[in-house]
Amino acid sequence: MKQQIKQRAAGRNRQEGVAGIGTRAVWAGENIEPWERTTQVPVAFSVSYGYDDLDEWADVALGKTRGHIYGRNTNPTVAAFEEKIRLLEGAKAATSFASGMAAISNTLFTLLSPGDRVVSVKDTYGGTNKIFIEFLPRFGIEVSLCDTADHGAIEAAIGEGCKVLYLESPTNPTVKVVDIARLAAAGHRQGSVVVVDNTFATPINQQPLDLGADLVIHSATKFLGGHADALGGVVCGPADLVARIYHFREITGACLEPMSAYLLLRGMKTLDLRIARQNESAMKIARFLESHPKVERVFYPGLESHQSHEIARKQMSGFGGVLSFAIRGGFDAVKSFLPRLNYAHLAANLGAVETVAGPPATTSHVESTKQEREAAGIPEALIRYSVGIEDADDLIADLRNALEATASKSSTRAGTRKRVRK
Ligand SMILES: *Cc1c(COP(=O)(O)O)cnc(C)c1O
Repeated sequence: MKQQIKQRAAGRNRQEGVAGIGTRAVWAGENIEPWERTTQVPVAFSVSYGYDDLDEWADVALGKTRGHIYGRNTNPTVAAFEEKIRLLEGAKAATSFASGMAAISNTLFTLLSPGDRVVSVKDTYGGTNKIFIEFLPRFGIEVSLCDTADHGAIEAAIGEGCKVLYLESPTNPTVKVVDIARLAAAGHRQGSVVVVDNTFATPINQQPLDLGADLVIHSATKFLGGHADALGGVVCGPADLVARIYHFREITGACLEPMSAYLLLRGMKTLDLRIARQNESAMKIARFLESHPKVERVFYPGLESHQSHEIARKQMSGFGGVLSFAIRGGFDAVKSFLPRLNYAHLAANLGAVETVAGPPATTSHVESTKQEREAAGIPEALIRYSVGIEDADDLIADLRNALEATASKSSTRAGTRKRVRK
């Protein structure tokens, strides 16, 4: 029986290189040692692992034999999550974290030392931006943040020396896309480690390692988990780099919880289905919004009008589930409009099965000041809209109703109508 299970697991392992990404999302990382014949990866709530044989214990502790010692280092449920995302990103290794920000900060602090220089873009996630402008300079690390749309300027900054090139694509909240292959090549000419935050795209829509990146980072809290019920982060890449980042994390302690790992694993099984739906709905919604007279501007890389459309078409297989738009009437109109949406949580997350909406000031860039948001080119009257898996027609009707009920600037009423909940 055990032999048969091992053979079938080996068969799946052989398939992992060739199986489609939807198949991998379901099966990758599930080849666990069966415990009481469970078909699902159990949640291992155990801080430590017992060994009767001291030699065996020592071998595991020294990494000579596979196994677990202590929960801050490794855990079987967490290992299954790492294996699933590793195989979806096509990486040699992966290591996980308590949150996306833990993954980003641990990676940057592993790779950078005083005197080093890091090049990135102005549009990174608000927390990442804080690391660049507040924390890294305190440790004598030079940070160069470039205009996200100006590839020439980014290449010039890389040319001045670059230990780490840190990219995010698409970006928050105006969904700009950077040319990963072009910038990775520029980074490698300087011997940089090229890191890409792939949270918005997911491995379904974009494969940064194939485009030349060295490391891929995710806030697993978003699309990977997909249900807004677990925080997590992950870094995927070559074994040597990932081992260094893992070592930093095992000592500093920002490890992923086993229950969160389980929820993320479960969510990821439907990743391919969810992303296909969200890509399709977001495109329809972006087109609808673009044609609506009360909408001033729509940012979605799938639209021909978007500044990054050509790059997105070249490097992505889908344009993703996040768009943003500005409505006429400024922030007062935003305050009137958002509570009228019936099918959207007004909340700070994204990438969930439910649609989520909010302005950058309380979502992606809550960590930034008004001045910092202005400097990053983010209009205060913008709405970030993360499309869920609801029927696109219902979401469009919901947006249309809310837009039509929103007073234009000339007739702004105080207060808003009570939100009608289904
Ligand atoms: C949310 C997010 C992060 C941070 O992830 P947490 O899990 O909230 O720590 C990083 N990058 C991007 C693009 C994000 O959207």
